[in-house]
Amino acid sequence: MRAMGLSLFSPVRFVKGVGEIRERAFLRLGVRTIEDLLFFFPRRYEDRRNITPLSTLAGGQMVSVVAEVLTFDQRTTQRGLNISTALLSDGKDVARAVWFNLPRLKDVIVPGVRVALYGKVEARDGLQLTNPEVEVLDESDPQSVGRIVSVYSATAGFSPKSIRRVVSSALDDYLSEVQDFIPSSIRQKYKFSDIRQAVAELHRPQGRESWLRARNRLAFDELFLLQTGLLLRKKRRAMPQACAGPLKPGEKYATFLKTLPFCLTMAQNRVIHEVLTDMGSELPMNRLLQGDVGSGKTAVALAAMVAAVDGGAQAAFMAPTEILAQQHFFRLRDLLKELGVQVELLTGSLPRKERKRALAAIASGEAGIVAGTHALFGEDVTFKRLGLVVVDEQHRFGVLQKNALLAKTDSPHVLVMTATPIPRTLTLSIYGDLDVSLLDELPAGRHPVKTHRASPRQMDQLLDFIRGEARKSRQAYWVCPLIEESEKLDLSAAFSRREGLEKALPELRVALISGQMPAGEKELVMAAFAKGEIDLLVATSVIEVGVDAPNATLMVIEDANHFGMAQLHQLRGRVGRGEGESHCVLLSGKTTPEGEARLSAMLSTFDGFAIAELDLRQRGPGEICGVRQHGVTDFRVANLARDRRILELARREAARLIEEDPELKNEPLLAQTLASRLGTALELAGTA
Ligand code: ADP
Ligand code: MG
Repeated sequence: MRAMGLSLFSPVRFVKGVGEIRERAFLRLGVRTIEDLLFFFPRRYEDRRNITPLSTLAGGQMVSVVAEVLTFDQRTTQRGLNISTALLSDGKDVARAVWFNLPRLKDVIVPGVRVALYGKVEARDGLQLTNPEVEVLDESDPQSVGRIVSVYSATAGFSPKSIRRVVSSALDDYLSEVQDFIPSSIRQKYKFSDIRQAVAELHRPQGRESWLRARNRLAFDELFLLQTGLLLRKKRRAMPQACAGPLKPGEKYATFLKTLPFCLTMAQNRVIHEVLTDMGSELPMNRLLQGDVGSGKTAVALAAMVAAVDGGAQAAFMAPTEILAQQHFFRLRDLLKELGVQVELLTGSLPRKERKRALAAIASGEAGIVAGTHALFGEDVTFKRLGLVVVDEQHRFGVLQKNALLAKTDSPHVLVMTATPIPRTLTLSIYGDLDVSLLDELPAGRHPVKTHRASPRQMDQLLDFIRGEARKSRQAYWVCPLIEESEKLDLSAAFSRREGLEKALPELRVALISGQMPAGEKELVMAAFAKGEIDLLVATSVIEVGVDAPNATLMVIEDANHFGMAQLHQLRGRVGRGEGESHCVLLSGKTTPEGEARLSAMLSTFDGFAIAELDLRQRGPGEICGVRQHGVTDFRVANLARDRRILELARREAARLIEEDPELKNEPLLAQTLASRLGTALELAGTA
């Protein structure tokens, strides 16, 4: 039973089975309220109604099997590779499963337990499952066998079973509270099922058909909400209004240009001119800057921010991760020291005292520029006069979140930056009327990163190569495999990889960085790497976006076949930033035909735009590799690449609605939902 006085908007810890630790884990997944939990949908489903008998396994298949563990053992090779092997039986036949670098498996997989495995069958000395996802089954959990089982993105602190149980209890107690904000005329027109039924279906699907209907309905909801918000905003933009006003560069800007340690490229000069022209006008800028990794977007942002400060306003620089926000912060502080511009950092993990001080400086206007994560639009953050918002690596942020920041102020100038090209049709429908600038030139003296494919059997050669680079005082990254199921496993793979590399390369200074380390620690490691005190940095995929260390010339990506192309391109973009020749090694054994195609395209293609297109085309629906969005949730269901038809529908219906009822007088629930999600709707409706 649920407790009294709780609503969908109460914190998730009030759900049965959620304590402090799990609440923290949920927060990392972007689940804050009970409503968030109800809309936290499975990452994929496993059809355990039809289990593949071990006797019918065939090489190359993806299979779901249920079996008993007969034996389990673990060993470490001389090179530090940890190998776990389990012998499995389903009563008729036996098969083997093998995992690499997951030393902690031995704590859960012991002889006698029943497990559900999902993964690929490979022919190696007979058939084996290689690195399958594994779940220990518990007979007391009826949700786990004989049906379609939901698999949620897990995080430390959860077993698949416990996350299912928590979701179940939230459904039992709170599903009836979910309300439908879609106008009833639209619901009838498209014969939408009940919203509560749709939510339940996504958690406990009855079958393919009903699941798809529910899923499309919920995707429509999200896109419709967004379109309505955008159209309302556009209406307001068209109206005479107070805005941050024209911001013109002055003395500080001139000094900034003089102290910049390099010459701007022609493309940078052109784009800065476009940006400053926008900022100098009465109307708020709304500009998207697209530029490949390494094209120097940060310098453009900096120029704009200094100009904003010259114009008497504040600027906010929003990055998708703490590491990146910190990096921006330190750079800005160093570069702007001589200009007398106070720079502040605002992230979620800032100690309380620091935070208080930063908030005060932001509110009083002392702080000219604030770098931060999405903590920048926390409820307690007030700017004195925010004139410019720069959003870095835009594709990592939710559209909704960006809008929340904009709601903080009366129409500031906005510059969003991305290395991931977005097709024009999509930008139009996501952002409305947006101007686009292109940084289509890399700074002089850059060489394309030499990209190599290597098999794990060539480890000795690879180690020699790393030694060679270190002897030249160059630095290297080693990115560990991405294990989607659990951050804990990610981390333990990275730990054992570091140990292995330390053993193999005793003369090198090896360090580890991972997404789950406390922010302060990450900062120390990144700073040490930047100072050259670390030769080889072993990382989980946290270094993916934006990290800049020009002396690093080698990037090794382990299990490269498990990454999406756009991600590989981002990772590769971490090297080749300085003068020296740089290399990227894609480590991968034999893989699927699609995996092979991805890898060989990476060897021959260096243009991020071309890669993004290939990536979109290659990634069929349902393929689950690639983007993990920690904490930063955007759409829960909709997928902009796939749901274009639904997007158009939503846009049309939203336009019709606003035409008929511009103040949403007949749709109070919609107005309210917009207000809570986008922050501005009521105000918008009010001025309309
Ligand atoms: P991205 O567009 O990927 O964000 P950055 O802004 O991080 O790229 O720039 C990549 C690197 O190139 C940084 O080390 C930066 O200092 C350097 N850089 C930027 N512009 C220039 C330039 N015009 N000439 C030389 N180096 C530059
Ligand atoms: Mg960048």
